[in-house]
Amino acid sequence: MTENSNRETDFAFVTLATTDSYCMGALVVGQCLRRHRTTRQTVVMVSTNVSSQARAALGHVFDRVLVVDVLDSGDQAHLSWLGRPELGVTFTKLHCWTLTQYSKCVFLDADTLVLCNVDELFEREELSAAPDPGWPDCFNSGVFVFRPSLITHGRLLEHARQHGSFDGGDQGLLNTFFSDWAVRDISKHLPFVYNLSAIAVYTYLPAYQEYGHNAKIVHFLGSVKPWNLRSNSQTNQHTNSHLEEFVYQWWMEYSYLHHLIKTMSHQEPAVPSQHAGPKQHVRRCRIDSRIFLITVYALFNITTCKTKLWEEGQVDYLGKDAFDNIQKKLDRFLYL
Ligand code: UDP
Ligand code: MN
Repeated sequence: MTENSNRETDFAFVTLATTDSYCMGALVVGQCLRRHRTTRQTVVMVSTNVSSQARAALGHVFDRVLVVDVLDSGDQAHLSWLGRPELGVTFTKLHCWTLTQYSKCVFLDADTLVLCNVDELFEREELSAAPDPGWPDCFNSGVFVFRPSLITHGRLLEHARQHGSFDGGDQGLLNTFFSDWAVRDISKHLPFVYNLSAIAVYTYLPAYQEYGHNAKIVHFLGSVKPWNLRSNSQTNQHTNSHLEEFVYQWWMEYSYLHHLIKTMSHQEPAVPSQHAGPKQHVRRCRIDSRIFLITVYALFNITTCKTKLWEEGQVDYLGKDAFDNIQKKLDRFLYL
């Protein structure tokens, strides 16, 4: 084994899903990492209540699906959990420090959308993260570089037990633990484009217009997640046109994957083992059903005012919605 391949299996992207809804997000995280040809391992931590179907789907995309049970994770965690039940998800996230078979990892929230290859993140050290848009002296814990260590894990649990979290979640806890992040070492400040949150688009639109095209990871932080945006009325309330583009992309990835997994489970039960991405599988299972394409396209339009027109049958079949155009648009996206 070369030094290089050692390093590749040493490093992993890690995400977390404790509900089937968050599994939808985790699927997209894993899929995007593959699409952009990561050479690192991919790991998803799920809690015991996640359904077997969701776990199986994740197994098609991630190198490892790790079931974590907070209540079984040792006395210290158990005590902390009992004392502060609101920190349940946070403790589950802290589990990532126990992945000691990897020397370095990048944690990605399940509500992130990876837009390009971001393997260069592994050049950073613990704890590297991007500023939080609400309080830039705090880092946002949706994307961070860390080194698994049982010692650090134990210290984090102890810290949680003693101090709790000032925001009730993992971000407050991690910021008081890695308390010198703001001032100590600028190399641990990830550029904002590695954790671009929608809120920044609202609060500083000119900056988004200037730099937004450099976005590498979009973070749908807040209570509205792409998988909740199902109706036109909801999207109008919560999104703007910039965010719509990313929600659209999220649904493209999700729908593609959903179809692929369904196709594979009918035709090719074997899980793809390569990191090269599922392109070849897609070629073999060439999506030649017009109905499927049109359904997918309609689904993507949930984020735009077009939905209503589709529902009312006012589809521009000969113009921008013509089948050939739809197919081209999808083909471009799916690299068929
Ligand atoms: N999470 C989870 N189940 C939950 C809530 C959160 O698995 O019920 C995980 C998931 O990976 C999620 C992360 O914890 O992305 C942080 O939560 P969230 O993204 O909802 O917080 P925000 O980024 O909006 O502050
Ligand atoms: Mn998040």
